[in-house]
Amino acid sequence: MAYTFTIGSIRCHILSDGKTLSDGGGFFGLIPRAMWQEVIQPDAQNLIPWESRALLIESDAGLILVDTGNGDKLTPKVRQRMGLDARNLRLVGDLARAGYQPEDVDIVLFTHFHGDHIGGGTRWASADGQPGPVVPTFPRARYLGQRIELADAMFPNERTAATYVADNFKPLLDNGQLTITDGPQRLARGVRTDIAPGHTAYIQTVWVEDGGESLLFLTDAASWAVHLERLAWVPSYDVFPMTSIETKRRLRQEAHARDALLVFQHDAQVVAGRLVPGQRGLVVQPTIVEDAHFDATRDEVRE
Ligand SMILES: [Zn+2]
Repeated sequence: MAYTFTIGSIRCHILSDGKTLSDGGGFFGLIPRAMWQEVIQPDAQNLIPWESRALLIESDAGLILVDTGNGDKLTPKVRQRMGLDARNLRLVGDLARAGYQPEDVDIVLFTHFHGDHIGGGTRWASADGQPGPVVPTFPRARYLGQRIELADAMFPNERTAATYVADNFKPLLDNGQLTITDGPQRLARGVRTDIAPGHTAYIQTVWVEDGGESLLFLTDAASWAVHLERLAWVPSYDVFPMTSIETKRRLRQEAHARDALLVFQHDAQVVAGRLVPGQRGLVVQPTIVEDAHFDATRDEVRE
């Protein structure tokens, strides 16, 4: 589902690459199920739904797309494991609902190189979605990624290998479409990135700031709203969990000081919200919420 709003004079859209399912122990790490099931109810297999959102920014440097979801380079077996029942155009469908085609995107920013963030940046060339040559989903776009993230993706270890898929980034490197950056970047007027380590070594968040208003796209620095509320709740996916806690402490202060609109990339229920004082510290007051009910065909658009 696409949401459109403005930050100052900058128009932004929250897009979705759809919901998938995975074990609740992934996002909630060491936290006992008895506690996290009060946030999201798992099914009989302990699976919870989660979103793959993207941020589209109408900037003075052109159309910027932040992350691209899982995409469609998925075999039937992987689809079944993830709870996706058929090939569909989830993110591209939402892009159309926001009024744009893939050819309109000028910049694709990868927050980090995990498959659920960059998988949709490329697609199989065939019209029927059969495996084959890999081409960019956004043919005109300049893709941006951090140097350390690319290094980790190219040389994974036993723990990280499953999420780093060469087909997601190698074709973009080979055709010269992927530009490697190093550290925080200013992408356009009012649009900048910030390194927020913990989930990975060089994951980058995105700030949109204009006219006294702010938006913070948290990516996996705080995947769900509850991760920002409770610093000790760190996903088991995070490579440097202690660093995640300190990053969240800093981001929480910065976001609260600016009264920033927070966008949660994976939260099945809280799409966006703002920090407000609660009984035990800052809590997220949701501004956009969704029903966590899982329906894999919800946004299906057939070619
Ligand atoms: Zn993620």
